[in-house]
Parts: sequence; C-alpha cells; structure tokens
Amino acid sequence: MTNILNLPGVIVENKKQTGETLILAVISENKTAFCPRYGQASHRIHQNQGIMVRDLPISNQEVILRVNRRRFKCENCQKPFSETLNFVETKKHSSRRYAESITKQVIHSDISNVAKNNKLTEDLVGSMVKYVA
Ligand SMILES: [Zn+2]
Repeated sequence: MTNILNLPGVIVENKKQTGETLILAVISENKTAFCPRYGQASHRIHQNQGIMVRDLPISNQEVILRVNRRRFKCENCQKPFSETLNFVETKKHSSRRYAESITKQVIHSDISNVAKNNKLTEDLVGSMVKYVA
C-alpha cells in the first residue's frame, strides 16, 4: 500500500475499506521532529494524535488518510510540540496534493461545480484554493 499511495516519506500501516471509502492509517517515516522554538531535534514521543486528511482517489475510490500526527517532547525546553507534516495542507482537511488537484479543477470550472463533483462543501473547496494560491 505504501507504494500505491506514493507519498514520499509516508508509510501506510493499515488499511480499512468502508463502503466507497478507503481509509489508510499512515505515519511519517521520520523518527525525529524539530522543536519550533529553537529547532532542537527530538525523538521523544509525548503522545499520538489522529487527524483525518482527504487524499487523491485511488482507482475511483475516495481516500482518507488517518494520519498519526505525533507530539514530541523537546529535550531542550521540555515543552511538547506537534510534528510538522509537509504533505498536509495547513488547515489539515486534505493532503497538499489533493488541494492542488482540486485547485486545478477550479481553474477549468468553478467552485460550485468542483464541490459537487467531489462531494465537498464550497467552503472547503474555497479554502483549498486559497491555500494553494
Ligand atoms: Zn524546545
């Protein structure tokens, strides 16, 4: 599944099929994360947090990534922080590449059609376009 997903640096740990949707449990292959304060590297995992992120369809199936976004504890300032996931867009509703694909569709159509075709709300499509732009 990791190969089929083809998202660099991301490992698929588990998959589940529910109706039309494929849910993939994924985790970043990085063992360390960097404290946002002074950039200190840490490998001490403080807790695990799941976020749900929409990704590109695979063989016409809707794909949701259940991302284990780990919280680390800084070995320097002792404060917990969440790892940065560069494949997830900032508002965390979708992967970066999914937001880019939706934005491309909007360029050739409009927000309400793209929302309808992808079963998304217009607000969500709008926020993806804003993020990519
Ligand atoms: Zn720190």
